[in-house]
Amino acid sequence: MKRDDIYLDYNASTPCDPRVVEAMLPYLTQTYANPSSRNHHPGREAYAALEKARGTVARALGCRSGTEIVFTSGATEANNLVLSGIATAMTSRGRHIVTQTTEHPSVLEPLRHLQRNGWELTEIGVDCEGRIRLDELEASLRDDTVLVSLMLANNETGTVQPVRDASQIAHRRDVMLHCDAAQGVGKLVLDIDQLEVDFLTLSGHKVYAPKGIGALFIRRTKPPLRLPPSIRGGGHEGGLRSGTPNLAGAVALARALEIAGQEVASESGRLAELRDRLEGRITAGVTDAKVNGSRENRLPGTSNISFAAVDGNALLASLPDVAVSTGSACTSVHSEASPVLRAMGVQAQLAKASLRLSLGRFTTREEVDRAAERIVTEVTRLRTVKRRPQST
Ligand SMILES: *Cc1c(COP(=O)(O)O)cnc(C)c1O
Repeated sequence: MKRDDIYLDYNASTPCDPRVVEAMLPYLTQTYANPSSRNHHPGREAYAALEKARGTVARALGCRSGTEIVFTSGATEANNLVLSGIATAMTSRGRHIVTQTTEHPSVLEPLRHLQRNGWELTEIGVDCEGRIRLDELEASLRDDTVLVSLMLANNETGTVQPVRDASQIAHRRDVMLHCDAAQGVGKLVLDIDQLEVDFLTLSGHKVYAPKGIGALFIRRTKPPLRLPPSIRGGGHEGGLRSGTPNLAGAVALARALEIAGQEVASESGRLAELRDRLEGRITAGVTDAKVNGSRENRLPGTSNISFAAVDGNALLASLPDVAVSTGSACTSVHSEASPVLRAMGVQAQLAKASLRLSLGRFTTREEVDRAAERIVTEVTRLRTVKRRPQST
């Protein structure tokens, strides 16, 4: 990153917090033994550190015990593990799964893969704020429904879904609920019992830990649910996910969640204020700038704004010094209109001319003001260029 770059893409990835790096370093250079090598002292030390990290993650989420936490390489793997696992584990009960249209590709693609292989999938729609309708969810449940997958907060708009209400509706029909909380952890006060979910996904690099670590919460049930492994091998992570555990990553995730828990209340207030300042300056500076997503039910640091009468690609190209995205980070290599905004009823051309601005722990007021000024300048310039008749 250049020195003057303004980073407003925290929903795509966050820098590591120096406190997280400090906590993980000894597990790269000193406690490096394989946690499975429990026949020797260094291995037992590594094992103890891994289980301590697991316990910390569990406590941060409000779980009863660390046995409910499986470490994965990230949220994508956790989503794949639970979604294909449930489908396989529950085939005798039914083959119908319910989700909604603005889920992350790491939820939609595994489910669509199942659909191509004989499972039935219902993708319910969202309203203009990006929220599902609970009556529509309720109506979609059938006797052969085995799972509902509903994200906590959307990565593009920050819209927060009514997960607790959805869990209660699903549970009344004896259906389990999975929640991709990659964007909620550390931004909202989060508690597994309060959300009443059965499975929950998180990602390290969205909460100031490194890329390549994540976790899946699996609620303990009686009798225990027998999920098939996502990766077969030596039987690590309770047999669900083989491969030598990423100990330094697990320690980092644990530390990151500890910090998030301590700071979430004050930090969410600060971010909401900065976000409102950013939106206020942009909407005051240019006409026809529309904020997408919910006003009340939204992540504090996320803003998604559509600019009428400008070309989205031209706008991005004219802002090389402001790191933002259009659509999700994963789809921004294509220049298609964001399916998330389209599902909310935003017209295609306008959806293409939308910026996702996501703020985080190291965002300053000065950066917000500079970014707002740059965006206002470029939108105004592009509109003027467009209006000016071609001279020969
Ligand atoms: C980033 C993100 C993911 C993917 O997380 P990885 O750890 O990068 O695999 C999944 N879901 C949501 C909502 C995300 O924002």
